[in-house]
Amino acid sequence: MKALSQTRSSLPRSGIRQIMDYSATIPDVIHLEVGEPNVNTPLHIREAAFTAMNEGFTHYTANAGLISLRSSIADHLKRQYEIQVNTDQIVVTAGAVNALVATVLSLVESGEEVLIPDPGWPNYEQIILSQESIPKRYKLLPDSGFVPDIAELEQVVTPKTKAIIINSPGNPTGGVLSEENIKELLAFASKHDLYVISDEVYDGIVFEDKHISPMSYDTEGRVISVFGFSKNYAMTGWRVGYAVAPQQIAAVIAKVLEPLVSCASSVSQKAAEAAISSTQEFVHEMREIYQARRDSAYKLLEEAGIKAYKPKGAFYMMIDLSGIETEEENLAIALVKESGVAVAPGTTFGSTTAHMIRISLATEDSQLLEGVKRICDFVTKHR
Ligand code: PLP
Repeated sequence: MKALSQTRSSLPRSGIRQIMDYSATIPDVIHLEVGEPNVNTPLHIREAAFTAMNEGFTHYTANAGLISLRSSIADHLKRQYEIQVNTDQIVVTAGAVNALVATVLSLVESGEEVLIPDPGWPNYEQIILSQESIPKRYKLLPDSGFVPDIAELEQVVTPKTKAIIINSPGNPTGGVLSEENIKELLAFASKHDLYVISDEVYDGIVFEDKHISPMSYDTEGRVISVFGFSKNYAMTGWRVGYAVAPQQIAAVIAKVLEPLVSCASSVSQKAAEAAISSTQEFVHEMREIYQARRDSAYKLLEEAGIKAYKPKGAFYMMIDLSGIETEEENLAIALVKESGVAVAPGTTFGSTTAHMIRISLATEDSQLLEGVKRICDFVTKHR
């Protein structure tokens, strides 16, 4: 038998999924590792899908998605961010991850480099490696609010670099880019002629400020923004997202979808249309809930003398466990085994957060607080 693809079979696994699998075998574990809302998709969205199914919306759509959905997305971007785009600049995808894969495939040749954040969502590295391109990490440090530092970017960029992936609000840190950060990043991209792939899937979850899309400041047509429905509307299983790009790039992304998925699910697209074109009350309510959870979890940790980084957006919190010694090398495994709490290990996001863990605030209140108490007890025992 001939060998499997070496590139694909040697892809690193997400450490979050490993903890999920491991903790599934242990009873009474509190799950703070997974990044998905703990509530059901709002009723009006589910009903729209039901109606669509019954009306026969059960067929393929155009690669780029239903025109009615793309039109609703264009209206939403105008209302929300005063961004003016045409429907031919929008490509609907099977989740934001599919938009990221199709965008990287559309822009980057194998052997070319893409800058990715450290810490950052593990899938960025997988996406780039799986198509034989080269991920190069840039550090996001706590002292600068976990946003990119231009001097650091200048150190990692090379003539082979084609694009940079940025993520605001950021997973896992909750770092949020300011207008000034965005302008600096775009000047950097312009200087080195890079595409900017801007992952904005948590755009509805910013606490004190407002989300700013880098697209608003893009005068050169080098930004491709990726949005999702999973996080804002509790729609992880529906698998819908979208990319917004200059028309000639959007056309290639839509073409690349053909061998990947052909199109996103037609029923899910109808649900997404209801989500984006009707009341946004659910998004606002959930943001307030996450903020309240952030504050109460932070308070518990602070009272226990444990360093945590209060996120400005998204629904995660990073906790610093430096100096904690256990027999188990992997702190996340030690936490599951000893304290019955599953968290995401900092190592899975890059090298800068090896001494940290990430908890998800998208967890029901009492579970979250019990999980945080268990983390506090664990730290008290081991420090
Ligand atoms: N981008 C980031 C930063 C994420 O955390 C996730 C999901 O965890 C995604 C993209 C993918 O979202 P979707 O469910 O729309 O594919």
